[in-house]
Amino acid sequence: MTTIHPARTNGFAVHAPGCGDLVGEHPIRTEAEVRAAVERARVAAAWWSRLSYAERGERLDRFRGVLARRAAQLAGVIHDETGKPHSDAMLEIALTLDHLAWAARNAPKVLGRRRAKVGLLMANQAATVEYQPLGVVGVIGPWNYPVFTPLGSIAYALAAGNAVVFKPSELTPGTGAWLVEAFGQVVGEHPVLQLVTGDGSTGAALCGAGVDKIAFTGSTATAKKVMAACAPTLTPLVAECGGKDALLVDADADLDAAADATAWAGMANAGQSCIGTERVYVHERVYESFLAKLVAIAGKARAGSDPEAQLGPITLPAQVGIIRRHIDTAVAAGGRVVLGGSDGIADNVVQPTILVDVPEDAPAVTEETFGPTLTVTKVRDMDEAVALANATGYGLGAAVFGGRGQHLAERLRCGMVALNAVFSYPRIPALPFGGVGDSGFGRIHGPEGLREFAYAQSVTRQRFAAPLALTTFARTPKTDALVAKVMTLLHGRH
Ligand code: NDP
Repeated sequence: MTTIHPARTNGFAVHAPGCGDLVGEHPIRTEAEVRAAVERARVAAAWWSRLSYAERGERLDRFRGVLARRAAQLAGVIHDETGKPHSDAMLEIALTLDHLAWAARNAPKVLGRRRAKVGLLMANQAATVEYQPLGVVGVIGPWNYPVFTPLGSIAYALAAGNAVVFKPSELTPGTGAWLVEAFGQVVGEHPVLQLVTGDGSTGAALCGAGVDKIAFTGSTATAKKVMAACAPTLTPLVAECGGKDALLVDADADLDAAADATAWAGMANAGQSCIGTERVYVHERVYESFLAKLVAIAGKARAGSDPEAQLGPITLPAQVGIIRRHIDTAVAAGGRVVLGGSDGIADNVVQPTILVDVPEDAPAVTEETFGPTLTVTKVRDMDEAVALANATGYGLGAAVFGGRGQHLAERLRCGMVALNAVFSYPRIPALPFGGVGDSGFGRIHGPEGLREFAYAQSVTRQRFAAPLALTTFARTPKTDALVAKVMTLLHGRH
């Protein structure tokens, strides 16, 4: 929970979502302060980009070591600011370390100079392509995974040779400050990774502060504002936005495994995951059996603010109203609550909720709920499941249980699909992460995630004079005739 500090207009206080304790106070950085940070970053970027991949990699590895050794402390900060269970915070940090390792190790291979084929007519040339760092990258992060999500951009941007100015969510500035301080311990020479805390206005200032790219993760609505703020300076943007991910259960699925995974994908982190499952489409032959298993498993998970609770409270207080509205409008439209429901909401704690028979045009099916709720819908066959899964404007991730998963995945309009598992793709650093449609564009993670923070520079070197001199005013009619002949030979038969 965040409040603008009563005594100052240029600061804000953060309170723990569970107990309401004050857990930090942070400045709201002004436009001038954000610009100054970007200017400092530009100097830092010049130094950082001149280091070799090995030198940068060695520093990123040491940063990883600090994160690993002080993980429990960092998890405490995450828990204080988001309310998520300490063990979930530890898991988030563990997954992040794999990405740091991968980005540092693979940057030279993905971005380093490589030869390009030149073709017959250009045989006198030697061509190469290399990816150069962009310069200064502005990273705007959300609060739901305040380490894993921003570092999905930061680690790759740094490994590619950029300096980063990081604006964390106003709900999790302490986590952002912890990360930047830890990085500063390892890289003390220049401010290669800086923090600018504040609210939306600070994020907007970062978009217009002369950075070379914005890596935004957050809601689709904010992404549109960010894109508009980037437009006047033609600042490029990678946008990782919300989702309404579907999980498909085919008639031949292992129902125990599917139900267990669905409960977790829908309820873990109190449903506050961009790739959390929100809709489930189940083949009619196994619908009743699957639903019974799912309700039994999800019914055992309890939300609360106490250390034993498996689900924490809802981090953003305003989200509780959205979750309640989605449940209530679904019920008003003919849906049924088979677990939890509005009655299970107490302050900012929402118990696992499962809804059935919800019309496909209800907000619980069309809009991102961002709470521990699932709609479970019976389908005739998997064609119907695919059609319904594809029917929202979002296209982030999906999951399929059953033997025909690969075939079905190819028909799903989304950036990532997990087969017979959930949340598996973000744990594989080599896989690009991102969505289509309202879920955004561009990719973090994997080779694409490194190239997202670099530009391709092509260089071609003439090794000897061309037998056919084409780019000269001394070109002869004989050469022109030869070019016409070669053109016909090479392309004319198609
Ligand atoms: P928001 O869109 O509310 O905020 C995201 C970030 O943008 C915050 O740092 C916020 O600052 C900042 N911001 C707000 N207004 C502006 C503005 N006008 N210009 C620039 N920056 C601004 O998202 P949440 O923090 O609530 O995060 C939840 C959303 O993030 C969900 O939709 C979720 O699906 C999505 N998400 C997507 C992921 C993905 O990889 N696709 C991963 C994780 C989450 P402040 O908080 O200070 O207002």
